[in-house]
Amino acid sequence: MKAVQFTDHGGRDVIEYGEFPDPEPDRDEVLVDVKAGALNHLDVWTRRGLPGIDLDMPHVPGSDGAGEVVAVGEDVTRFEPGDRVALSAGVSCGECEYCRHGEHSMCVDFHLIGEHVRGVHSELAAVPVDNLLEVPEGVDWETAAAAPLVFQTAWRMLVSRGDVTPGEDVLVLGASGGVGHAAVQIADHAGATVYATGSSEEKLEHARELGADHVIDYESEDFADRVRELTGKRGVDVVVDHVGAATWQDSLKSLAKGGRLLTCGATTGPNPETDINRIFWNQLQVVGSTMASHGEADDALELVWDGTFEPAIREVLPMSETARAHELLEEREGFGKVVVKPDSEL
Ligand SMILES: [Zn+2]
Repeated sequence: MKAVQFTDHGGRDVIEYGEFPDPEPDRDEVLVDVKAGALNHLDVWTRRGLPGIDLDMPHVPGSDGAGEVVAVGEDVTRFEPGDRVALSAGVSCGECEYCRHGEHSMCVDFHLIGEHVRGVHSELAAVPVDNLLEVPEGVDWETAAAAPLVFQTAWRMLVSRGDVTPGEDVLVLGASGGVGHAAVQIADHAGATVYATGSSEEKLEHARELGADHVIDYESEDFADRVRELTGKRGVDVVVDHVGAATWQDSLKSLAKGGRLLTCGATTGPNPETDINRIFWNQLQVVGSTMASHGEADDALELVWDGTFEPAIREVLPMSETARAHELLEEREGFGKVVVKPDSEL
């Protein structure tokens, strides 16, 4: 088969698309004929190399993908050849205290397909059955591939960890990115008043279409000041920050007393200065969240499959142009998800 792969970490030029041995499914795995994959910022970090993660080389990336079941291992009863499936990338042990409480993304051995082990941006992929979601007829492959990682992440962060309730004010930073655009839709669906930041009129218009009630251009105005203005000096109940160092202080400044800062990523760096006085005096909560449990992923994706939520697709490229897909992410061009398809599917 053909697969996206790299043998060394580095710049975009390490990415190749070429022959790779066909995967053989284990007893508890499903062999999937991949129809589409999608990229996340994670793919960029993985390509550059993450401290503490030692990959089997060559590494096949890809934490989002969808396709048709070709064969199943002998222990698999949930799927059969011909079924339509999408990948949910989080792998948990099923046995530790967190798994036994259904908190799969807190598993002591939690890791991601594509980041820590071989991913699915290839013509065929062998995937543990627990990591597959059923995709109904009528959902196109691009949507099925683009939605799982960001919608389950945003769902757990806002609904389970953030406990967003109707009428609350929720500020979503970077509303045109993958997690951001899912968070806007989920906060709107939860009945919150949604404030969204973006860097261009086009991106802000897109955020409005997704359900944002107020939009803020962070290039031309200080978003914390603007939030104070829009909320009559009160601040918002919840900030969704996956940006990290560049926005952390202003995220804290944007919160009302008792507010919650939800974080699921730090694309601009993990070590900002933080104002502890503000945290205790205003009685703020900093809440971390990562990926989701199997049940949360089912709940979030159910609402994608029925059309309530929609992943925005920025561009569809052949897998042989994965380097260009990385460029789109690294240069922050456009909004929504970048989808890649095996060249043989185009
Ligand atoms: Zn576990």
